[in-house]
Amino acid sequence: MIIARKLDELITARRKLPGTVGLVPTMGFLHEGHLSLVRRAGQECTSVIVTIFVNPTQFGKNEDLDQYPRDIDHDLQLLEQAKVDIVWIPPATEMYPAGFQTWVEVTELTKPLEGEIRPGHFRGVTTIVAKLFNAVRPDTAYFGQKDAQQCAVIRQMTRDLSYPIQINICPTLREPDGLAKSSRNSYLDPKQRKAAVILFQALSKAKDAFDNGERKAETIRKLAADVINSEPNAVLQYVSCADFETLSEINNIDQKAILSLAVFIGKTRLIDNFILG
Ligand code: AMP
Repeated sequence: MIIARKLDELITARRKLPGTVGLVPTMGFLHEGHLSLVRRAGQECTSVIVTIFVNPTQFGKNEDLDQYPRDIDHDLQLLEQAKVDIVWIPPATEMYPAGFQTWVEVTELTKPLEGEIRPGHFRGVTTIVAKLFNAVRPDTAYFGQKDAQQCAVIRQMTRDLSYPIQINICPTLREPDGLAKSSRNSYLDPKQRKAAVILFQALSKAKDAFDNGERKAETIRKLAADVINSEPNAVLQYVSCADFETLSEINNIDQKAILSLAVFIGKTRLIDNFILG
């Protein structure tokens, strides 16, 4: 496994890779969710490149950039075991050199949900992903359904900028009790960790109602919200039932929809979602 840091190291190593290339962008502190993307890339592509970069421009001023968990040695062990060809760990000064002033922005899909609560977040995401695409030139890039809006935004950017890259979305990997795996779960103390299962329970309750024929989005939202509000250690930030493509809130679920939640457990903000239909 080649560990590239500087851009020219990545480009030199990339040139030598045979066949098709799969890219898995991450912020590190890897878990089984990340590894499921890496394994799928390994099954579908000749070579796999994983990037580890805690992208400062996608964090808001009062967010957790400084505390974001990091363990590069462990990450490298996991990626070596997963037979990754290249790990690219670019320094921030190389991705954002002094005087940096060019941004990639998806205008509409980034307005609601995470985009509304985290202004500038998606501008940071699309800018870094565009830079990773430009440098790595993958055939296929892998993203997790766990970050549903990010998937929609990246698909849009890829279409709009004519990147010849296939975007593959992978299902959310969960802990045995249903909590979506996330690097941020490491912030939770044991009591909070127990409470955090409430996101999965809320989504499950609403999905059961959908599976039993409920089609009113407001009823589905309320079912999920009531479950979250029943947990004293959880504070609901939003519950959304939106069109899968446009991410606009809907009244009736008559085509594929996405039910998503953002919830504070203590100071830790967790997101999760289920696809309906
Ligand atoms: P992150 O390191 O959090 O930026 O995540 C890197 C990639 O892994 C993103 O495409 C995420 O959507 C994906 N990912 C994160 N958690 C999970 C999970 N539990 N299951 C599947 N994919 C995930």
